[in-house]
This record gives sequence, C-alpha cells and structure tokens, in this order.
Amino acid sequence: MGPNASPQPGSTGLVIFTRDLRIYDHPALNAAIAHNEKVVTAFVFDEKVLQSEFNAPNRTGFLLESLADLDASLRKLGGNLVIRRGEWVNEVLRLASEVGATSIAISDDVSRYATNRANKLNAKGQGIGVRLDRYPGVTVVPAGLVRPATGDHYQIFTPYYRQWQEAKWRTPLPPPRKLHSSDAVSLSLPRLQDLVNGERSPQVIKGGESEGRKRLTEWAKTTLSHYGDHHDDLAGDRTSHLSPYLHFGCLSPLEVAVSLEDLPGAQPFVRQLCWRDFCHQILSARPETSWSDFRPRGDRWRKDDEAFAAWCEGQTGFPVVDAGMRQLRQEGFMHNRARMVVASFLTKDLYIDWRLGAQFFLKYLVDGDIANNNLNWQWTAGTGADTNPHRIFNPTLQGERFDPKGLYIRRYVPELEGITGNIFDPAPLERAMVGYPLAMVDHRAAIERYRQELKNPRI
Ligand code: FAD
Repeated sequence: MGPNASPQPGSTGLVIFTRDLRIYDHPALNAAIAHNEKVVTAFVFDEKVLQSEFNAPNRTGFLLESLADLDASLRKLGGNLVIRRGEWVNEVLRLASEVGATSIAISDDVSRYATNRANKLNAKGQGIGVRLDRYPGVTVVPAGLVRPATGDHYQIFTPYYRQWQEAKWRTPLPPPRKLHSSDAVSLSLPRLQDLVNGERSPQVIKGGESEGRKRLTEWAKTTLSHYGDHHDDLAGDRTSHLSPYLHFGCLSPLEVAVSLEDLPGAQPFVRQLCWRDFCHQILSARPETSWSDFRPRGDRWRKDDEAFAAWCEGQTGFPVVDAGMRQLRQEGFMHNRARMVVASFLTKDLYIDWRLGAQFFLKYLVDGDIANNNLNWQWTAGTGADTNPHRIFNPTLQGERFDPKGLYIRRYVPELEGITGNIFDPAPLERAMVGYPLAMVDHRAAIERYRQELKNPRI
C-alpha cells in the first residue's frame, strides 16, 4: 500500500515502539495512521533484553522517563502507550490478536538481535495473517542505502561521508495530528527497581522527547556555531549531550541533521551524525563485529584484574584518565575526547581486551549503544574500521592539550583540586599528601610493549 493510501475501513494497525520513542518524524507511526482506521501504540519490555547487559540502571531509567513522556504525547493526540512485558515476539502477537490488528509497524534496526527478532516476528505473524511493515527512522540514511562500488558497506569514513551527503534524504515528518486509538488494556509503567538491580548515577540526564527537543533547541542557539572549534575542550563541555536521545530515538537523527545543517557552524556537527550512521551501516552488514574484531590480528590480551579494576575505578594515577572514568560513573556520560583517551589507555598502555572496556562502558553510559560503543572501542583499540593501530594517545599530553587549565581534572578528581604543581603528572609527594595513586605504568615502556605485540602478529 502506498504512503498516500486512505485508511482501510475497519482496520486496526499496531505500532510497536522500540528505540524510536518519539512522535516527531516517525515514519512507522505516520504510516500506520494513514493506512488504518484505528491504531494501537505499544512498547513491550523484552524479557531477554531485561536479562542482558543492556539493562543497566542509567539506561533503563532514561527509557522509563522516555516512555512516560511518549505516553503523555500520545494521550494529547487521543491515544496512549500500551505497556506489555514478556517474550517479545509472543507478546507483540498476543497484543495484535487482542486488538484485532492485521498489521504491525516498527522502525527497522541494525543489530543482530533486533534484526533476528523482527524476522521472527515477521515469520510468526505471517502464519496468523498479521503483516509486519518496517520503516526507517533510526539513522539519517538507512543502513545499506549508501554502498561502495564493491561490497555492501563502507570501511573507510571519508568516502562514506561524501556519498552520505549526496544521498537522497527523506523529508522529516511532522507529528501526527490525531490518533484514533482502539481500546487495549495497558499495564502501568513499571518502577525502575522492578526492572533492574542497582542505582542510577547521581547526575544522570533526564529522558524523553520533550526534554531532548528542548536541549536541541537551546544547544543549537547557544553553542552549535562554536562546535567545530570547541568540541574537544574537555572542561568546556560544549558538545550537545544529545547521544542518549539519539540512542533511544527521542530525537530523529534525520530531523536533527536537516534542522541544523544550514545553520552557521553546523557541518562539523552533522559530520558526527554521519559517524553514527557509519557505525550503524557496519554493524548492519557485519553484525558479528559487535563483539568480534573487525580486523582480527590475533591479540593475546593481558589478563590483569587488578589493573582493570584500577581503570574502572578511576585510580590509574593518570589524572585525565581518572577524570574520564569518574565522569562516567557520576553522570553516565563521558566526553568524547576522554572516551578516546581512556579506551586507548586500557587497550594500549594496559593492553587489556577492548571487550572488557566496552562492557564496562555499557554498564554506565546512558547513550550505551552497541554500534557506536563497540565500533568506537574497536577504532580506538586498532582492530576496527578506518583505524590506525599505531595511533597512541599519551594520557599526560592529552590532558595538557585538551584541558590546559586542569579544570576537567579538578572537577572529577577532587583530591587533585589543590595541586599547585603539574596537575597532569603530580609529583610523588603531592600525590601522597592527597591520597592519589602513583602512575600505574610507565607510559613509554607500556607503549613499547604494545608495539612489540603488534610486531609479532599471531595470525
Ligand atoms: P556530540 O559531539 O554533540 O555529537 C553529536 C552526535 O553525533 C552524538 O550524540 C552521537 O550520536 C554522534 N557521534 C559523535 N561522535 C561519534 C562517534 N565517534 N561515533 C559515532 N557517533 C558519534 N556514542 C554513543 O552514542 N554511544 C556509545 O555507546 C558510545 N561509546 C563510545 C565509546 C568510545 C570508546 C568512543 C571513543 C566513543 C563512543 N561514542 C559513543 C561516540 C561519542 O563519544 C559520543 O557519541 C559522544 O561523546 C556523545 O556526546 P554528544 O552527544 O555530546 O556528542
């Protein structure tokens, strides 16, 4: 059925939200409304996801706030958000049969888990006469649309970026004007403690489309034009913090890109959205790279629980690394420059497997995302796409360069606040006086060991 078809009399469509928790620019929602007389909108808590590493307090808390906000928006349109929980495919089909839906609309996603789940829903739905329609919305340009002359995905960013800019983008959709909903029994939203063990970080960002749109407007007004020059300034913290809203789809990446692209200074920012799409198109084509090396080199990573624990706790003795790790635990967020520095430190100075680092990030990051997180980890570790394994971040110099006044360090490593000497590498006596550890490795010697490992590939 084409996009301009009028609603089929008596038909009911079911929209299942996943990580597209918004009403603006939502192709699946708009199409379901266009094609059906009645539409039921729902979110199903997937028991398997709840049992996995993706169920972490910071993200699940953000998710609950986003669902509450979405429910409020749908109510204003005349509908509501039906909540269910269980084995995802069965619950979706059970709901479809309860409300008499003949079609289900979802936003297409890229991970192996999401793809398999949708394929299973499609197959089982077909068996009982329920059609699954998949729509874009998770990226600016759908994964797989922009392809190189040979192969099904780009491995190098720059040519991808060129094609991505030239590709035909959809026109972002306005929110629906009205929703003719069918009665469906909704469970109320669960409480965070019913879903996940543990507490959220103390200074975590608030979820929801309304919050995301507010932040986008405000940030674009005040900071976008300086983004290119200042996005690496650790203490200035001038990046958008939109990543969790993009991860959960509270904001449409396409709408963000289109709404900003002609504003002064927007290009470097839109380019970052392209990095996001770049990671997504890789994961879509090579789903195994979520946890396997994109370019395997047979690393024999060191096993060192003590060193790993010091890294996790922000007790490495390298102030900028420790500041980054403590920001992560405090806010469920870390500045991009710090992410690169701490990931390089783990995988190069300590030569510890990137998978351990990626897993630890997923425990805390509100924006924790299998495509962006794991492929950026691989990029930093040197096993990923468009990467250079010889790129080394010197943690002391990175601090001097991107936090020249030591303000980022002082903000997150308070015991170093009163240091009067070199805050990037405090003297042993100064460290002892404030209870801050000595540097856990000699950077030069550690990097020499790493280089030796690279010289002796095992495969
Ligand atoms: P801005 O600078 O304002 O950028 C705007 C948007 O562009 C971001 O919100 C994000 O969606 C996208 N973006 C920016 N940089 C990248 C990048 N390098 N790759 C892909 N997309 C990007 N990003 C995540 O969204 N989730 C993650 O789990 C994640 N893990 C990372 C792990 C490591 C080791 C590294 C080096 C980077 C990781 N990133 C991740 C990418 C980047 O650090 C964050 O997207 C960014 O810091 C989020 O802050 P922001 O929204 O203020 O970014």
